Amino acid sequence: MKALKLSEPKGALTLEEVEKPAPGEGEILIKVEASGLCYTDVHLCDGDWEMVDAQIKRDLTLGHEAIGIIDEVGPGVTERSVGERVAAPFLRSACGTCKQCRRGEENHCPNATALGMSHDGSHAEYVIAVADFVVPVPDGVTPEQAAPLACAGMSVLGALRNAKVGVGQIVGVIGVGGQGHYTIQLAKTMGATVIAMDIDPSKVDLALQLGADKAYCVTDESLLPELMAFGMDVVVVTAPSHDAHRLALAIVAFGGTISLCAVPGGETPISMTACAFKGIKLLSQAVATRQELIDILDLAAAGRVTSHVETRPLEQGAESLAQLRNREIVGRVVLVP
Ligand SMILES: [Zn+2]
Ligand SMILES: [Zn+2]
Repeated sequence: MKALKLSEPKGALTLEEVEKPAPGEGEILIKVEASGLCYTDVHLCDGDWEMVDAQIKRDLTLGHEAIGIIDEVGPGVTERSVGERVAAPFLRSACGTCKQCRRGEENHCPNATALGMSHDGSHAEYVIAVADFVVPVPDGVTPEQAAPLACAGMSVLGALRNAKVGVGQIVGVIGVGGQGHYTIQLAKTMGATVIAMDIDPSKVDLALQLGADKAYCVTDESLLPELMAFGMDVVVVTAPSHDAHRLALAIVAFGGTISLCAVPGGETPISMTACAFKGIKLLSQAVATRQELIDILDLAAAGRVTSHVETRPLEQGAESLAQLRNREIVGRVVLVP
């Protein structure tokens, strides 16, 4: 089968012919229908995440937003069956017994494994997933629409819940990319007024189409007074840039919350003076739980959230990643083997 392989962080990215894998105990083999391209793939290629370097498999098949049909079930699998369409998310498995798992935070399990990072992922014709961690895709949601929900969509749903976004709040969204375009729709569904920001005018247009109340192209500091005047209760940062974090700190209201969703490499200088004097809460979370995946798929089936996607053949995976790195993609690219 074909698979998009990364030899090692900062290494070669090539489409290769590899052996079709077989499911082990508790695992399933999925015939991939759609696999979302995520900025995480760029971070892995670029070796941005030194902290998790030891967890990154060498000779890795990228891809962690997988939708497909179960082709084979391994020994001990009883809940899932051949022929079912499922979503396999970045959170490939969690231990189920640690403190975090027991309190419902499986996404913070120290023993978790990650699809397309610690284990081979879904930019391929087939992928192995852990049966207990996949979720059925409801009728009415196409594989292409569902794929980015299995990382970008579920993550920002978790982030908005974490930040307790609700009716009447003013929510800023910095970055109208994969995560950002879902954040706008979800925050509107939750009853918030949404102010979107990006550095690309075409993404500002997309934000307005998706229902943002206001959208700004923020390429310099001239708009800061206007943005600060909104008094944003929550600012969600979905652009993987340190400038975006600095902007969030400047525009969030006193006592407000900054939700950190994008994961740029390196270190972001955050003014503790600003945090303390403004009383800012900084929140982050590792992707989200299976419950968020179930919920975001249901929201998609109900027409409350739409994926702005472009499908491309797996052969265009490497060049699509380069375009994603250069911020040339609007919405989300989904690879179809
Ligand atoms: Zn992702
Ligand atoms: Zn655990």
